[in-house]
Amino acid sequence: MNILCVGGGPGGLFSAIAARLADPRHRVTVVERRPDAGTYGWGIAVSRAGDPRDDLLAGVRATDPSTARALEDCALPWSGQHVSLGDAPPVHLGGSGYCIGRQRLIDVLVDRARATGVDVRFGAEVADLGRAAAEHDLVVLADGAGSRLRRSWAGRFRTVERAGRNVHVWLNCPTALADFTYAFEPTPAGWIWFYGYPYAPDASTVIVECSPETWAGLGFDAMEDAATMASLSRRFARHLDGRPLQSRPDERGRSPWAHFPMITNERWYAGNVVLVGDCAHTAHFSIGSGTKLALQDAAALGRAVASRAPDELPPALQCYQDRRLPVVRALQRDAEQSAGWFEHVERRARLDPVAFGYSLRTRKMAPADENQEFRGSSLEYGLHRATQWRVGRAARRTLAATRRAALRG
Ligand SMILES: Cc1cc2nc3c(=O)[nH]c(=O)nc-3n(C[C@H](O)[C@H](O)[C@H](O)COP(=O)(O)OP(=O)(O)OC[C@H]3O[C@@H](n4cnc5c(N)ncnc54)[C@H](O)[C@@H]3O)c2cc1C
Repeated sequence: MNILCVGGGPGGLFSAIAARLADPRHRVTVVERRPDAGTYGWGIAVSRAGDPRDDLLAGVRATDPSTARALEDCALPWSGQHVSLGDAPPVHLGGSGYCIGRQRLIDVLVDRARATGVDVRFGAEVADLGRAAAEHDLVVLADGAGSRLRRSWAGRFRTVERAGRNVHVWLNCPTALADFTYAFEPTPAGWIWFYGYPYAPDASTVIVECSPETWAGLGFDAMEDAATMASLSRRFARHLDGRPLQSRPDERGRSPWAHFPMITNERWYAGNVVLVGDCAHTAHFSIGSGTKLALQDAAALGRAVASRAPDELPPALQCYQDRRLPVVRALQRDAEQSAGWFEHVERRARLDPVAFGYSLRTRKMAPADENQEFRGSSLEYGLHRATQWRVGRAARRTLAATRRAALRG
């Protein structure tokens, strides 16, 4: 088949790799509108919680061990998280995972795609979906959350788009934070916070978030990028070793603040056009799963189309949708819960810091009634309290490792 992948993000590139590995007779092209080495964002974090078979690297390994090895080489592990609520001593949370620089991830995928015979073109944009569909046997639409092409066919995919309430900005800090850190700071206009983690020996991702009221109250709606970075760097200085925050300002010189787009599609294909990754669905960044989902979609699509001929596509694409949609929907529900937790920080910040940390850790299980604070079983909360001591943390790590080993076995 003659396959066009629109978008050179993780979803488009890994779809191309998976298609070529499934059948080297496919002619596959990836078209990316940005220049080479010009991706957006900084590092991404992946959690090892849950079923190890559901892990990002495990999924990649099952399709292409060579890509998995290259990604393993640049993944930076993290173990444990801590939460600072104002001036209170940090509260420890469990968890472990790894981080990867987004540009490194893209570079690995581009090299591998080219090595498998994919034609990867940067600086080229697909502008007309109907024309692309007519000229190719299969179009993989992997052009991200803001996909203009998907919007042009929104009725066929039955797309629903909604913007999250909070505003956030994805930043870089030229220092490696010691831990995966959540830092919540009070201001006269309300709470502002960041999630940060190191993704390279000398760099960390820092995602700053707050309510729109706090954002406007602090004057960020009218501030140039340089002033915004100076203000945020000062505010979070004690968590960042005093290092400056850096952004990629837009063409008007403004920081790239955004509302997170929540996207669902009832149908993931129309004719010979199929959706992959953020174009098909988004999952709020606070659960760190969007990249994994994009790579899993790509692997599943590669398996579904394998050696099919163009006239065998409809059942293959239906099979891909049937496999992926329910899994993704379940994760999107978790992501919505998590995003919702961060929309009510003002109320939760009245808890004592240990209870606040627990509420943050268990946010995906938050009750539907937002006035009722989730407490979990007393055993779980007791474990969380014990984690505040070194010996409790060691016990928790052992317990988590045993659980993971049992799941793997
Ligand atoms: C603040 C923030 C933090 C995040 N943190 C994490 C995290 O820690 N862990 C995690 O797993 N995920 C994270 N994500 C999510 C992750 O970035 C996405 O889920 C992932 O990038 C999806 O990959 P994709 O290939 O579907 O889309 P993208 O990576 O968005 O790639 C789409 C590509 O298509 C290109 N494109 C668009 N239109 C066209 C066109 N018409 N023609 C040609 N090219 C086009 C774009 O330039 C882009 O390069 C985060 C997201 C945000 C916003």
